[in-house]
Amino acid sequence: MIGPGACIGILGGGQLGRMTAIAAARLGYRCIVLAPEPECIAGDVAFARIEADYENEAALAEFARRVQVATIEFENVPAASLRFLGQRVPTRPAAAILDVTQDRLAEKCFVAVQGIAVADHAAVDDPATLEAALGTLGPASILKTRRMGYDGKGQVHLDDTSPQRAWDALGRVPSILERRVAFACEISVIVARSPSGRIACYPPVLNGHRDGILRRTTAPAAIPDALADEARAIAGRLARALRLEGLLAVEMFVTEDGRILVNELAPRPHNSGHWSIDASGCDQFEQLVRAICDLPLGDPTPFAHAVMDNLIGEEVRDWPTLLAEPGARLHLYGKSEIRAGRKMGHVTRIRPQVP
Ligand code: AMP
Repeated sequence: MIGPGACIGILGGGQLGRMTAIAAARLGYRCIVLAPEPECIAGDVAFARIEADYENEAALAEFARRVQVATIEFENVPAASLRFLGQRVPTRPAAAILDVTQDRLAEKCFVAVQGIAVADHAAVDDPATLEAALGTLGPASILKTRRMGYDGKGQVHLDDTSPQRAWDALGRVPSILERRVAFACEISVIVARSPSGRIACYPPVLNGHRDGILRRTTAPAAIPDALADEARAIAGRLARALRLEGLLAVEMFVTEDGRILVNELAPRPHNSGHWSIDASGCDQFEQLVRAICDLPLGDPTPFAHAVMDNLIGEEVRDWPTLLAEPGARLHLYGKSEIRAGRKMGHVTRIRPQVP
């Protein structure tokens, strides 16, 4: 166990790191944030920050000397950097988990090997394999880069464009073609697992996207109990199979006929878990701290219905109205520049749960 008073290292300087540092401080920990960007909204609320590239070994070594455990808030931290750190200090999650979750093809194979369904897909390495994959999967499909995709970036719908244009648009990099799933809804489950094997699972939540970016999460999702149980069971199974230490967010599609397909894994706090700050016994950020420090896990049960809306780009300018709205809980991330598609904050509205 790594007790309060210890120092937690966070790789990544964004809002997920910021909210983790706030939760850690509440439990008496200090955080050191390592991130390359001059603006570091996680560093703004942490004990210290190190401004350096993730590949900078001298900076990583200094970081490792100053922390008792390290975690990530940004899933595209190079796995090699986490490996380097892992030789000096416990890193939770471990680099081996990033090897799986940073590559869409490896991730889909891993999930499928567990006997869990994923969208039909095929590896694409050049225009010829793309043509062949299109022949099998049909034009109602999406070409995605294998690595570095997030918020719908690195994706092209094949019924909008020619295969060659799609291949060029993604930069001619290793990709996968995925059949488009006619889903009834998208849900996600966040599960925590500690080094001693304790597991705590949040309820499935309903996610609405626009332009590939999460807009709204409704928690808990109004889905049949059997489906919710299955979604939790899938998340728990994946966490155990990965030997996870930390958090895992599992994004899933639910089809019209009630089947669950896993879309994506993220071994870190997740936007669809922000509701838990205002409506659960222990929010996802505190849960991450508890998991990586091997403390008893907190209670993930919601005590209210919650609707979380992201404030994207210019929407953040509504803050005075939101601040004046009774019951609206406003969270602003302190980013200095408003840009289209940038997550600037979120607002959660809760409604007490009727038994
Ligand atoms: P991703 O980055 O893979 O999570 O994709 C972002 C969003 O695009 C998802 O949340 C879905 O709304 C949509 N999407 C991605 N893949 C598929 C698919 N195979 N079928 C239907 N919609 C998809």
